[in-house]
Amino acid sequence: VKAEGRNGWCFYRPEMDAQLQSRIEMEQDLKAALAGNQFQLYYQPLLNLDSGQVVSFEALLRWHHPTRSMVSPAEFIPLAEECGLIGQLGEWVLNEATRTAARWPQDWRVAVNISPLQFRHKSLVNLVKKALKASGLPPTRLELEITESVILEDETHNLAILNAIRALGVRIAMDDFGTGYSSLSYLRTFPFDKIKIDQSFVRDLPHDKNALSIVRAITDMAQSLNVLITAEGVETEAQMEALKALNCGEAQGYFIGRPAPVIDAYIQPMIRYGT
Ligand code: C2E
Ligand code: CA
Ligand code: CA
Ligand code: CA
Repeated sequence: VKAEGRNGWCFYRPEMDAQLQSRIEMEQDLKAALAGNQFQLYYQPLLNLDSGQVVSFEALLRWHHPTRSMVSPAEFIPLAEECGLIGQLGEWVLNEATRTAARWPQDWRVAVNISPLQFRHKSLVNLVKKALKASGLPPTRLELEITESVILEDETHNLAILNAIRALGVRIAMDDFGTGYSSLSYLRTFPFDKIKIDQSFVRDLPHDKNALSIVRAITDMAQSLNVLITAEGVETEAQMEALKALNCGEAQGYFIGRPAPVIDAYIQPMIRYGT
């Protein structure tokens, strides 16, 4: 028995445990899922804390697995990266998100997560151009979310790609800010349009003094660098108020709206905050 791996083949050995076996099955299921339209994008709103308006939505991938019900992207994205499917999957996400956003009733932006591996294969710049052209979405309404590993690996090559994409008018956001090793130095290397403060810092607001100091330091720095700030994982009103007081520009989280097919996602915050 063999399953396709990143380098072509990986062989089944009798000592493979059940976990590994189920992983191989998942890889095969992933391939079938791409062919069988089992993927769907959910959209989660981002709220501008000054205006109280929804300004954009992050596209979050969902896999309706035929027998396992819902599989988390935290589980299947790494798998898709390992078995060489992330290129195809990422291309589908980019096309689907831009096509959907182009039909939205307001000019919200759409944010798309890009895997570091998508910088390695087919030209990401061309894929972005193609998606924009096919959908008719203005480049200024597209935002790409990347993590610092993009800059960690193959810095010169990846920075050239990021600059080319940014030159189109597409925004680049640094995701999960604060969780890596040297996030700060990246702000010097590449002019990000936005920083997304990881939810681990937001979780302990508003009472934890250390979390408060960290978030304050990030928002102060971002302001002087003229970079937008989004706080992720905002689950309570108290967290949102603390972020407003810290001059954080945008908030995203269950308190504002859960990821959902877009109709639900944009109605929910409007009911809660009015317009
Ligand atoms: P992420 O980019 O950091 O996305 C934010 C995650 O936090 C999402 O998990 C979202 O559902 C969740 N979240 C939002 N608000 C809250 C909140 O208030 N509390 C808590 N506890 N969680 C909240 P999700 O959708 O399970 O996605 C997990 C990760 O999978 C994403 O993390 C991202 O790294 C990856 N991912 C999702 N879609 C894609 C995609 O299309 N392409 C790629 N390459 N990665 C994706
Ligand atoms: Ca993200
Ligand atoms: Ca994040
Ligand atoms: Ca403010």
